[in-house]
Amino acid sequence: MDAPADKKSRIKVRHKYLVSACLAGINCTYNGKNKLRHVIRRMVEDGIAVPVCPESLGGGSIPRFKCEISGGDGGDVLDKKAKVLTPCGKDVSKILIAGARKALAIARKYGLDKAIMKSKSPSCGCGYIYDGTFSRKLVKGDGVTTSLLRRNKIRIYTDTDRKYA
Ligand code: SF4
Repeated sequence: MDAPADKKSRIKVRHKYLVSACLAGINCTYNGKNKLRHVIRRMVEDGIAVPVCPESLGGGSIPRFKCEISGGDGGDVLDKKAKVLTPCGKDVSKILIAGARKALAIARKYGLDKAIMKSKSPSCGCGYIYDGTFSRKLVKGDGVTTSLLRRNKIRIYTDTDRKYA
C-alpha cells in the first residue's frame, strides 16, 4: 500500500549515482537494445541512481549510428585532438560532446559525485574503449562522457566493477 501523501512528502530520496541508462534496462543502445544489470535497475527504482544516455541526450536517435573514437580517447575528443566516427567515416563528435555536457549538467543538478558507466562505449566507456577500427579491439582510455565527468571530480565505476555496490 502507498504511504499517505503527507508521509510521502517527508520521505527524502537521496540520489548518489549517475548511471548509464542502458544498464538500468532502458532500450537506448545504438541498436535499440539495453545492457541490463539488475543491481543498477534496482538502484534507479530505489531512487539512489539517476539514469542518463549521453548519446540520446546529445541528439542521437534510437536506433542510431554505431561509432568509435578514432585517434585517441574521450579526453582527446573533448580537446578536439581525436574524432568520433561511424563505420563510413561520418564525424559524430559534436553529438557525443553535447551529450557529455548534458550528462554532467544532470549530475550537478542532483549533486551526484559518483557514476557507474557502461564499459567500452565511446561515450560511457571506462578504462578501455574500442580502438576505432570496428574490429572489437580494445585500447586503454575513457569515453567522452566519462572523461568529462572525471575532469569534474566525479568518481567513476564501470558496470563490471563490484566496488560501487
Ligand atoms: S551512450 Fe552510454 S547510456 Fe547510452 S546506450 Fe551508450 S553506453 Fe548506454
